[in-house]
Amino acid sequence: MAKCICQGNLSEEEIIAKDAKHVFQTYGRQPIVLTRGKGALVWDVNGKEYIDCVAGIAVNNVGHCHPRVVAAIQEQAARLIHTSNLYYTDIQPQLAEKLAELTGMDRIFFANSGTESIEAALKLARKATGNKGFISAEHCFHGRTMGALSITHKAKYRAPFEPLIPGADFVPYGDADAIRNALDSDTAAVIIEPVQGEGGVIIPPAGYLEEVRKICDKAGVLLVFDEVQTGMGRTGKWFGKDHSGVRPDIMCIAKGIAGGFPMGVMAATEEVAKNFSKGDHASTFGGNPLGAAAALATINAIEEERLVERSRDMGAYMRDEIKKRCRQDFIDHVRGLGMMIGVQLKKDGTPLVDKAREKGVLVNCTSETVLRLVPPFVITKGEIDRSVEVISELEL
Ligand SMILES: *Cc1c(COP(=O)(O)O)cnc(C)c1O
Repeated sequence: MAKCICQGNLSEEEIIAKDAKHVFQTYGRQPIVLTRGKGALVWDVNGKEYIDCVAGIAVNNVGHCHPRVVAAIQEQAARLIHTSNLYYTDIQPQLAEKLAELTGMDRIFFANSGTESIEAALKLARKATGNKGFISAEHCFHGRTMGALSITHKAKYRAPFEPLIPGADFVPYGDADAIRNALDSDTAAVIIEPVQGEGGVIIPPAGYLEEVRKICDKAGVLLVFDEVQTGMGRTGKWFGKDHSGVRPDIMCIAKGIAGGFPMGVMAATEEVAKNFSKGDHASTFGGNPLGAAAALATINAIEEERLVERSRDMGAYMRDEIKKRCRQDFIDHVRGLGMMIGVQLKKDGTPLVDKAREKGVLVNCTSETVLRLVPPFVITKGEIDRSVEVISELEL
């Protein structure tokens, strides 16, 4: 093996100082430097071990450095890393075929992130309908680039960058009538997360997605599911939509799709997809061989190790254990689907993130009052028990 170009001899302080000096300070980072991961565990530069209930923000579904993903990346990297989309590669159509089978969609466009998959969906929705407007939900999150930001609700994310693209409207999540009322003759698409992630692990009422589908069909408006976070087994089924019987017109997938390698996917039905013709959209890196190999290996791992079922079962186990063992008066309730778990607090939970980390468990706080637990599906019962024990001892 060639020597690693990253010399692993800088101290935690030196690394953090270098970041402070040279990297845009746009992230509220935790003060640890992670250097290694395996399964549901990560280690920092000082050798301290953590159980990772953040999983790269619902990305490392198959665990850190899954052996199949590592082997696929190593093998593909030695064969062909990148060619652009000016040429075919042997691997990209294979991945597209597999994704079409899993999603029930017909065609796949490859991008490199969640927000890019949303950008593609917005463009396709406008082209396919000839309309301009979008309806999305209050407290939704769809990404940070200008188009995705335009349909993202949070004022704090939007305000400094206005004017955004016009024609976006927000309605309360879970309220199908509100969508009916917001539709007008210029609406192109309704964009919905099957379970809201950043918004605080919000599960819509039963029948909501079905009702939204009916409303969109009646109005001739496209239905886009943002499955960037809920996809790839996270909710205990392959996709969040699979808890309903609904087939959207367009699906966006990213986060867990390639085992930690950056990839975004827009999938669409043939009827909608046919409206994109040559030159309508493109990406230099999209679906490149290295990413495609990582995604195929990730999907193989999920199928052969039955990780969707594991997400369902271990997620239910973790929620039950939290309900049983976490008795602090600041916890209101626990909710979730599969390995997408929200612990609703009665106060701001930000300080809990530091306290849990000090005790060796990484958790994330979203929407101020929700502890979001999205561990790798390969987390063991023992690791869940240990995480719940640490959470049960937290004080606010
Ligand atoms: C994370 C996320 C995005 C944005 O994905 P990036 O890869 O960070 O651009 C979009 N939609 C949802 C639902 C997400 O959770």
